Amino acid sequence: MTSSVKRTCGDCTLCCKVMAIEALAKPTNAWCPHCRPGRGCAIYATRPDECADFACLWLVNDLLDERWKPSRSKLVLTASDDGIEIRCDPGSPNAWRREPYASDIRAWAKEGEMNDMTVVVIIGQRLILITPDHEFDLGAVGPDERIVRELEGKKVVGATVVKESENRRG
Ligand code: SF4
Ligand code: SF4
Repeated sequence: MTSSVKRTCGDCTLCCKVMAIEALAKPTNAWCPHCRPGRGCAIYATRPDECADFACLWLVNDLLDERWKPSRSKLVLTASDDGIEIRCDPGSPNAWRREPYASDIRAWAKEGEMNDMTVVVIIGQRLILITPDHEFDLGAVGPDERIVRELEGKKVVGATVVKESENRRG
C-alpha cells in the first residue's frame, strides 16, 4: 500500500486482501476491486488515506527478514493496542504453523508474557491468542468484541471474549 519507507512492497499486495478498508466498504479477506494482485493498486494516486497510511510490520521493521515478506510468508503483521496481530491469508490458514514463523511467534509470545503484550493469530474471523504454553482458540470474534485475559502473575491462564460494552463496564 505504501512505499515511503526503507523497504518497498514490490510484488506484495497481500494487505489489499486481508485488511478491511472502511472507506471502500471492503471487508477483510477479499481482494480490493482496485488491486492488481502481485502488481499493485490501480488507483494508487487517489487511494484512501487509510491505504496510504498503512504499513505492515515487515515493511518497517528490519528485524523481520525476507522470509517474513507477506507475499512469501502469507502472513501480514500489524501492531495492536497491546501487542502484535498476525493475519493469515485465508488461502493459507496454516501458514503461521510453518517454520520459521511458528518458532518466531512462540518467541514473541514468551517475550510478550514478560512485557504484558499479546500475540494474536487471525484467520478470517477466528482469533487465536498465543502464549508460551497454550493456544487459546477463541473462535469468531466480532469487531465489537474484545479478548479478556485471565492472569496469574504474568502468566495467562485463560482467555474469553466479551462485548466491548461489557468490557468497559467491567
Ligand atoms: S502487506 Fe506489507 S509489504 Fe505487502 S503490500 Fe501490504 S504493506 Fe506492502
Ligand atoms: S485502494 Fe489500492 S491500496 Fe487500497 S486496498 Fe485497494 S488496491 Fe489496496
